[in-house]
Amino acid sequence: MTPDRLDRFARHIVLPEVGGAGQVRLAGAHVVLVGMGGIGNPALQYLAGAGIGALTLIDDDVIEASNLQRQTLFMPADMGRAKAHVAAEWAARFDPVLKVVPQVVRIGADNANGLLTGADVVLDGSDNFATRLAVADACVRLGVPLTSAALGRFQGQVANFAGHLPDEACYRCFVGDAFDATDCDTCADLGVLGAMVGMVGAFAAMQALRVVLAGASTLGDPQWGRLQLIDGLAPSMRALRIAKDPACRTCGGLSQ
Ligand SMILES: [Zn+2]
Repeated sequence: MTPDRLDRFARHIVLPEVGGAGQVRLAGAHVVLVGMGGIGNPALQYLAGAGIGALTLIDDDVIEASNLQRQTLFMPADMGRAKAHVAAEWAARFDPVLKVVPQVVRIGADNANGLLTGADVVLDGSDNFATRLAVADACVRLGVPLTSAALGRFQGQVANFAGHLPDEACYRCFVGDAFDATDCDTCADLGVLGAMVGMVGAFAAMQALRVVLAGASTLGDPQWGRLQLIDGLAPSMRALRIAKDPACRTCGGLSQ
């Protein structure tokens, strides 16, 4: 690492749980973010801040006035522009060393393989089940770990999945098959507090960093299948263990 990179990441490197080896791992990692909305915004900020070397930002949506209450990278002047482009421009200004690629496309079963190939981890902060399941299924096929983050009102859910491994659950083991056709925008229906998505998005970045650091430093414990339920009203956080479903149509055939 060059002296200016050592300076930039000094507060990481001094942490025994990250260290120099961890920082080198982060610099060599490629994270794909699905959804540049309320969860994707803070997740991008903290992943870019952490020095993740390559970031792909996938979102086909444009910025609207009602996004500004929680999607803190976006300014009023950005309204009507693609979220992925504006977020990528922010990242390029924030750290010109990072490789950031915006993808203004809707990810689905037809194109997920191509968009996610080569990722070290996919962080899904999208807002509907159809996208989530398409992304999760592709991650299992490709052998790519998934950090899944979602929220409804004041309840957040964040977990790392590795359904490609024989004994670990995938996202479909957790939610089942009932939601492939649903395409609901929960924020529009139910309302959402900006600080709550910030908390969930920042926590999702933390969990994705655990995946990237696996084998490089002690923070690298991915805690596969451990779903963290975040109650923003109480506030509190508790963990549930998601078991692999032997009958799961995505990963069940992979169990031993
Ligand atoms: Zn599964």
